[in-house]
Amino acid sequence: MQIDDRITGRSKIAGIIGNPLEHSISPQLHNTLSRLLGNDLAYIPLRVEKNDLGNAVKGLIAVNAAGFNITIPYKQDIMKHLDVISEEALLYGAVNTVKNNGGKLYGYNTDADGFLRSFREEAGIGFENREVAVLGAGGAARAIAVKIALEKASRINIVNRTLSKASEIAEVINNKIRPAASIFSPEEFEKQNVISRCDIIVNTTSIGMYPDVGSSPVNRAYTFLQSQVVYDVIYNPVKTRLLKDAEGSGCKVVNGLGMLIYQGIYAYEIWTGLKVSESVVKELFKLLLEYWEHAIIREE
Ligand code: NDP
Repeated sequence: MQIDDRITGRSKIAGIIGNPLEHSISPQLHNTLSRLLGNDLAYIPLRVEKNDLGNAVKGLIAVNAAGFNITIPYKQDIMKHLDVISEEALLYGAVNTVKNNGGKLYGYNTDADGFLRSFREEAGIGFENREVAVLGAGGAARAIAVKIALEKASRINIVNRTLSKASEIAEVINNKIRPAASIFSPEEFEKQNVISRCDIIVNTTSIGMYPDVGSSPVNRAYTFLQSQVVYDVIYNPVKTRLLKDAEGSGCKVVNGLGMLIYQGIYAYEIWTGLKVSESVVKELFKLLLEYWEHAIIREE
């Protein structure tokens, strides 16, 4: 046994504010990143009750934290506590990363950039001139759908059980970016066979997430076209029912672990000013994938 002196009295801290946090793997992600970079930033879970968000933020300023992440259910609520919010985060209506600069708080959203980098690298294509189906219209959907519009997709079909939520996202895209978004109820989406004209299908719903591993947001009678690329933001299980079905039809499929890792890397870069090299990215992917596959087995 040796003294663990990675964290000392000189170390800076960061963390993740949310509730619940038990299933977050952000602490493992960021602390591994610090170790790979030989940096002493310490990242901790910060479970905060609803009425304490403002106090928690003040506390983090008081201890001169480098910054923090925000997750469910505070990605919107945090915005009123910040001094400056990036243009993209305003468009997405959510902040997941805050940098503390001497008591002045800057808000960013790295989820969309994380999604985009993961999609581009793992699917090997981009969104320009592609027709896309975005399944779901919750928190993850808004940043993803708006990002896809910014990336010049020819059309974005947003499908959601609660149509008013799909409509809110479509309004942002159609009014603030380009009139490229359409909305569908799951029934209409299926009746009009919209999925068959889509080059890319992105699931942002929680359908298929552990323990609901037998369910898919796409009717299982549908046969995917081999040319379609299917992305699922879910990373537990590593391969959802949707991804298994699409893969069975020969499609390129990608899970949400890359999005999770890249949003974390971007946040880390914002706090520290460091640039995470490709070799560190690769090592982090390898370590987290191994870790995650084992963590899932342990949980099940
Ligand atoms: P929200 O609760 O904001 O949204 C959930 C979405 O799923 C809504 O569109 C909801 O529809 C839909 N949905 C849930 N259950 C059903 C159902 N039974 N039938 C039909 N639709 C359903 O969650 P988030 O957007 O924050 O997260 C969604 C998923 O994305 C989660 O699995 C989460 O783990 C994952 N995620 C992954 C990230 C990553 O980095 N890879 C980052 C963020 C999220 P309705 O609006 O009608 O309720």
